[in-house]
Amino acid sequence: YASNLERANQYLERFKNTTTGHYINGAFTLGSGGREYENLTPTNNTSLGKVMAGSVADMDAACEAAEAAFESWANTPGAERKKLLHKFADRLVERADEIALVESMDCGQPIRFMKQAAVRGAANFRFFADKAPEAQNGLALHQDEHVNYTLRKAIGPVGIITPWNTPFMLSTWKIAPALAAGCTVVHKPAELTPLSAYILAEIADEVLPKGVWNMVNGFGEDVGKRLTEHPAIKAVALVGESATGSHIMRQGAATLKRMHFELGGKNPVIVFDDADFERALDAVVFMIYSLNGQRCTSSSRLLIQSGIRDRFITALEQRVRNLRVGHSLDPDTEVGPLVHTEHYNKVLGYFDIARQDGATIAVGGQRITTANSTLDPAGNYLEPTLFTHASNSMRIAQEEIFGPVLTAISFDTEEEAVRLANDTEYGLSGYIWTENTGRALRMAKQVEAGMLWVNSENNRNLPSPFGGIKMSGIGRDGGDWSFDFYMETKNVCIAQ
Ligand code: NAD
Repeated sequence: YASNLERANQYLERFKNTTTGHYINGAFTLGSGGREYENLTPTNNTSLGKVMAGSVADMDAACEAAEAAFESWANTPGAERKKLLHKFADRLVERADEIALVESMDCGQPIRFMKQAAVRGAANFRFFADKAPEAQNGLALHQDEHVNYTLRKAIGPVGIITPWNTPFMLSTWKIAPALAAGCTVVHKPAELTPLSAYILAEIADEVLPKGVWNMVNGFGEDVGKRLTEHPAIKAVALVGESATGSHIMRQGAATLKRMHFELGGKNPVIVFDDADFERALDAVVFMIYSLNGQRCTSSSRLLIQSGIRDRFITALEQRVRNLRVGHSLDPDTEVGPLVHTEHYNKVLGYFDIARQDGATIAVGGQRITTANSTLDPAGNYLEPTLFTHASNSMRIAQEEIFGPVLTAISFDTEEEAVRLANDTEYGLSGYIWTENTGRALRMAKQVEAGMLWVNSENNRNLPSPFGGIKMSGIGRDGGDWSFDFYMETKNVCIAQ
């Protein structure tokens, strides 16, 4: 811990003594007409330095730069884009230690999870880099007297808007395919966690031609909004809350932007009586309490079959009680501080809501006010929490709490499990634990979600589609799905 903190402080020193600004048209700038704010670390709510929230004029400048750079970048041979994106990935790996420590301090995610961040980010770049040379390829479709073929071209400059929960990883996941497709980018990072986005812009500055990557810090309601309205921007990819998706869809309507939304979830993990008990227990704990429960695919609703309910809940209570809460840089920490006091208070508010609605707070349910060896009570720390005796109609079962908080609900039959799983406005992911293959296949058909894992925690496979249905999103990322979003398909029909 001490060594992590020392290195983190060294990396953070330069942010402390300056105002972090934007990266527009190949230049780092504080822009014009913006306003500064303090960027707080959730570990103790002290400032990591000032950040400039940009103005609409700054966003306009970034969109114009992306527009000016577009033709040249889109026409750069795929093989050359591939080379540059691999170079980008190399630089991520070289700066892995810095990225992990800075990200952990900025967003509060434990270092045990963040230390892989740069490697995962680099993997995102390498995966899409390798696809760049083939991205324009289409189909050949034959008729009696005609031949049709399709070709694809980058859609244009795109806006990418990211959240604070795992900001670095998500930014790379969205931006890498856009660049590989030949789009230029304007990135609007989350206001609460700007630092890893700045590091990404620094690497872009070393590797990419000017104007290809632009980044404007600031708030959703002005610079974010402007990005979604700017006529030069042809598509917007948002990772954020469902309500933000609705706003952005309205904002982009006048310019008919293509939209891609990765939004919230209230994902069920369904454990049947015949599940592998220990593996299911591990997965249930991991999929809600890792990453502070601030993960879109976290399984925040446990649906537990009545035959094993008591034994499973007793074992779960023990595991939740033993989770180690601490400073995000402490390698032993399993649950760190929540990103910001406002979000922290929102999560704490659900403890009263649970009591009022008649659920039992079986474990946790308090803010942490006593220090341990690495935890400063001035930070946003709370006890990992388990609600039991809940029903699916309670707010704790319907609303995305986005913290280390699990709601357990019991069920008797397979039909009831399906009904409960689907009784939510969300449809991002689901997890099914059963040794019965037929049941797994039936559940896979019936549970409403963009992604299901059977007898597995959230395993990522970059060629597979990632995304949600219902209020959890529109569109898919991963593999060729990303290129479908970032590219236009043209059909050419030739008479023989
Ligand atoms: P948020 O919606 O508040 O903010 C996301 C981004 O949108 C921020 O950069 C914000 O500034 C911007 N924004 C807000 N209002 C805007 C507007 N009117 N116009 C343009 N931009 C605007 O989300 P958050 O609180 O930062 O992140 C947490 C949410 O993200 C959770 O709901 C979580 O489930 C979701 N999320 C989803 C996925 C997924 O893949 N489905 C992944 C991670 C997080």
